[in-house]
Amino acid sequence: MTTIAAKAVEMLKQGGVRPTRVRVSMLEAMLEAGEPLGREQIAQRMGENANKVTLYRTLHSLVETGIVHAALIRERVQLYEPSHHCSKHLCHPHFVCTACHKTICLTEVTPPTVDLPAGFRLERQQLQMEGLCSTCAMAEHET
Ligand SMILES: [Zn+2]
Ligand SMILES: [Zn+2]
Repeated sequence: MTTIAAKAVEMLKQGGVRPTRVRVSMLEAMLEAGEPLGREQIAQRMGENANKVTLYRTLHSLVETGIVHAALIRERVQLYEPSHHCSKHLCHPHFVCTACHKTICLTEVTPPTVDLPAGFRLERQQLQMEGLCSTCAMAEHET
């Protein structure tokens, strides 16, 4: 078993679900990607002819348990990622590069929490930014 697969099994167990083959392979694909993926991309990365309905159902169950969460929406596609880098209420920021179109997980950045008006209760704070990633910013600087 690869290190990533072992990690996937561990995350599933911690999340209180049985590490079935399809769940492990899905979580493994998402961990391997290292960036949020749409469900089509997840299916592609899993590289098996598994029934799409089964895959979507598996994804849904992983989201329900909180092992995976909806990270952001890009071009009207919902992207998902494993939630091991996030706390219950605070997700790491995502940076979308307008030049190379990568979605970058800023897991090292801890955003400040927003002070909500009295009476409001925070369920989850997500932050999404757009601009140039370091590689593209550098390339632009050179030309
Ligand atoms: Zn870029
Ligand atoms: Zn992320």
